[in-house]
Amino acid sequence: ALPVVALVGRPNVGKSTLFNRLTRSRDALVADQPGVTRDRHYGFAVYETQRYIVVDTGGIGQDDEDIDTQAFAQTEAALEEADVVLLITDHRQGLLAGDAAIADRLRRIERPVHVVVNKSEGEQSVSAIAEFHALGLGEPWAVSAAHGDRVGLLLEHVFAQL
Ligand code: GDP
Ligand code: MG
Repeated sequence: ALPVVALVGRPNVGKSTLFNRLTRSRDALVADQPGVTRDRHYGFAVYETQRYIVVDTGGIGQDDEDIDTQAFAQTEAALEEADVVLLITDHRQGLLAGDAAIADRLRRIERPVHVVVNKSEGEQSVSAIAEFHALGLGEPWAVSAAHGDRVGLLLEHVFAQL
């Protein structure tokens, strides 16, 4: 089976933007799988020669639910099927309680989890993202999903550990 990479995180951190970037590669075939789960978005993507599936869990949970409830739903969904989870955060907003709530859930899953600090375009300094170490999920990865900065490096790291 193809490896499954799940994207989780608070609203507006850039999950869908990263999903679109990862699935945009030339021979990617974006496919929502009807009859599986309506509120999840699946896409095929390719890293070098490795095909994989990306899941954008952003649609899971109701807008009127609090962040903990949404995080729970997202994490449970990721647990069901992900081989690796990317916790997406927002460099511009910095580390928020909602990120920590999701991280608390993710720390209990027995899959690799990577912290992605999105919206880090133009950011040269490692110290600028150092606060995200506090999530307790390892080295944060600064990327820009919108511009593509360092997304390749992130994938290299993710697939090296799969
Ligand atoms: P989601 O709710 O987590 O799926 O977030 P979206 O992908 O819908 O993005 C939320 C907002 O952040 C949109 O206005 C995006 O254009 C913006 N955004 C996403 N990625 C980046 C990025 O890398 N840099 C910047 N500056 N904005 C971004
Ligand atoms: Mg989204």
